[in-house]
Amino acid sequence: MKDLLGNKGAQLAEMSRIGIPVPPGFIITTEACRDYFKSGDLNEIFEEAKKAVRKLEEKTGKKFGGRENPLLVSVRSGAPISMPGMMDTILNLGLTDEIVEEMAEKNEWFAYDTYRRFIQMFGEIVVGIEGAKFEEIIEREKEKEGIKLDQEFSVNALKELVQEFKKIVDIPEPEKQLYMAIKAVFNSWNNERAIHYRKINRLPDDLGTGVVIQTMVFGNLGNDSGTGIVFTRNPANGENEIYGEFLLNAQGEDIVSGKRTPVPIEKLKEAMPHVYDELKKVAKKLERHYRDMQDIEFTIERKKLYILQTRTGKRTARAAIKIAVDMVEEGIINKREAIMRVDANSLQQLLHKQVDERAKLDIIARGRPASPGAAIGKICFSPDEAERRSEEESIILFRVETSPDDIHGIVKSKGVVTIKGGMTSHAAVVSRGLGIPCVVGVENIKIDEEKELLIVDGKKLGKNDVITIDGTTGNIILGEAPLIETGFSKELKKLLKWTDEYRKMKVMANADTPHDAKKALEFGAEGIGLGRTEHMFLQANRLPVVREMILAESKKDRMKALKKLKEMQINDFIQLFKIMNGKPLTIRLLDPPLHEFLPSYEEIMEEAIEKGLDEEKQKLLENVKRVREANPMLGHRGIRLAIVYPEIYIMQVEAIMKAAIKAKKEGYEPIPWIELPMVSHVNEIKAIKRKLQKAMEKIMENEGVKIEYKMGAMIELPRAALTADEIAMECDFISFGTNDLTQTTFGFSRDDAEGKFLRYYIQNHVLQDDPFETIDEKGVGELMKIAIEKAKKANKAIHISICGEHGGEAKSIKFCNSIGVDATSCSPFRIPTARLAAAQAAIGIQ
Ligand code: ADP
Ligand code: MG
Ligand code: MG
Repeated sequence: MKDLLGNKGAQLAEMSRIGIPVPPGFIITTEACRDYFKSGDLNEIFEEAKKAVRKLEEKTGKKFGGRENPLLVSVRSGAPISMPGMMDTILNLGLTDEIVEEMAEKNEWFAYDTYRRFIQMFGEIVVGIEGAKFEEIIEREKEKEGIKLDQEFSVNALKELVQEFKKIVDIPEPEKQLYMAIKAVFNSWNNERAIHYRKINRLPDDLGTGVVIQTMVFGNLGNDSGTGIVFTRNPANGENEIYGEFLLNAQGEDIVSGKRTPVPIEKLKEAMPHVYDELKKVAKKLERHYRDMQDIEFTIERKKLYILQTRTGKRTARAAIKIAVDMVEEGIINKREAIMRVDANSLQQLLHKQVDERAKLDIIARGRPASPGAAIGKICFSPDEAERRSEEESIILFRVETSPDDIHGIVKSKGVVTIKGGMTSHAAVVSRGLGIPCVVGVENIKIDEEKELLIVDGKKLGKNDVITIDGTTGNIILGEAPLIETGFSKELKKLLKWTDEYRKMKVMANADTPHDAKKALEFGAEGIGLGRTEHMFLQANRLPVVREMILAESKKDRMKALKKLKEMQINDFIQLFKIMNGKPLTIRLLDPPLHEFLPSYEEIMEEAIEKGLDEEKQKLLENVKRVREANPMLGHRGIRLAIVYPEIYIMQVEAIMKAAIKAKKEGYEPIPWIELPMVSHVNEIKAIKRKLQKAMEKIMENEGVKIEYKMGAMIELPRAALTADEIAMECDFISFGTNDLTQTTFGFSRDDAEGKFLRYYIQNHVLQDDPFETIDEKGVGELMKIAIEKAKKANKAIHISICGEHGGEAKSIKFCNSIGVDATSCSPFRIPTARLAAAQAAIGIQ
């Protein structure tokens, strides 16, 4: 009943029902709160509350406002949605001078400690007096007494505090106190913090809060009393043990306020073993009842345990996995529930070394987390220098943005940071491919290349400063942050195995190198769904040959370069076929947006102006000028290249066949899927397909070996999606390249959008999500739906996959599952996420 009673109230009522020791109380509903907001009138509600107080008196044998055996209460806020710390709670309500005097006869210290607490809270929360005023008085008194901690106050000091406090707050009689407190808690729904919190968390403003009025139990009655917070399992690593902290002789707010440092819960075992055992029992019982890990607030009054709150506990990704799997094994939840409980996107964090978030970190800047993992190294501004210095020390490469000319430096760096760029920028894509941590789009850092300085908020950092980057969070940290090893726990292995029982989509990998392919298999890939041959060329020693091919002035020159590349490719493919043995290896034929492979025209020009060019450079400049394009993303790339220069793709399919045959002869089972990129019109496929088939058939004939292969097309242009029926007739498979499809559907340049306007769009909610991270279902998704429907109609057997960045993102995978995509393909480190997300999608629609 949390909508009516608020979460805290509902949980208290439920705990009391199942026999957990909860101090008696009653709840004013959220409905009453909303009524009050409408009418502004509290009288009717208060009349009812008074009746409830009478019942509470009967139940406890105490009297509200009575001098002997007085009933004191807490007045606690509690909304239907969790808003931790946003609203107000008042403790020890119902005290007056006379009552305190009476109480003091039995226990003077306790009486005045409780009173000064009440006056302060009432003053701050109900009357609205600044907290600093009270703190000033407290500090003065502590100095006078020569003490540090609240619990060290002498009785006289406490009495003085009360006197001083009363000079700034008027304490009315108990009934009036209650009236004012209820009103204050209602109104705390609309305090600035709470409104702001709801705004940033996109929570509704019209729910209102419940008010819990509950008999006080006292943790400040001496060293056999106390208060604390426990989790029923360890929220950091998921271990099945209670985890938390407590304070002796204290009330609840002492822990949260940070005034005193609490001690680990294990110490309670020594101090009060019986209470500790009972706490453990209660924790188990609550966990079984709510079927999830709980976060519990408790108070001990003279060795008697009371539970004051329970809720589902927040936990790290690692703990979430262990708890879900353990709970299945303990028979508390079933496998499906376990699968649904883990945030699929969070799995990526687990596979890399990570910054230890519990440590004190000096975070100097934040960017977008482009490639996960943490790296530590000294600052470096140039790829040449990175290459050189990396022999001796660890390097973090800082660039405004990166280009293909930086590769040799990137591969030698421990981490990469770019000032500009988004999740699909050159730096981001290359780093992810290489498994190097990377942060992009770091707004508040400037690079002064001349002076070799990094300027962060006016602070200057040089080449000898050590930096830690966290590609999982996007944090840039000054100094060497502590890292923690993570990796595949046995629980994660188990959970992933379960996902395979439920998911319908296959999970394949985007992998271009043997290293990635092996990683992918280790993480559970069922094949390679995208092997980008141009990425195989990005290695420093191959780039010149690719340039030679691109810049060739005649077919003869081009053939010469192609021949060199062919040998390299055959070797690459043999290795990949062997690793993927028996699983599909999708090889995408060359798709080089020219600017990713050529030196920048502008840079050569700059060099020319500065110091002139030698003959070789002059020639390069002319060549680059000849082939360069105004808009290379929409340029002469993909299948367009092969239609004008068929020899390029012919070389590639020949290399594939040769490699497959070689692997087969050695006893492996190669399954090549050959993929054509950047198709916009079926005629493009028709123009080249026969030529490729012929070339392959000839090789098979010569070698006397037959290889079964498939041929397919990328769907990455709107026109291809809209005519997918025609394309499907020429294909065994199609695969959505959603990076380019998003770029061309929105007309947003992948290279420029992020820094220029996309970030602004997202911050200002023009767009809810970054369409390059999460599929834009209404636009790009609609094109996908049309394509799938048409393709399946034209070719029933067609295999449909997705292979953009979205293929490893949980929400996008769910969408793909719902529109009939057969397989997703993503970078190796995202495979666990994809497996889990695919299972969640399948379970979600059952
Ligand atoms: P929050 O929502 O900010 O956690 P709570 O209403 O839970 O606020 O109150 C904070 C703390 O006050 C509790 O954790 C508990 O320690 C103390 N408290 C609340 N009600 C009582 C009570 N009836 N007896 C003793 N302590 C209480
Ligand atoms: Mg609480
Ligand atoms: Mg593409």
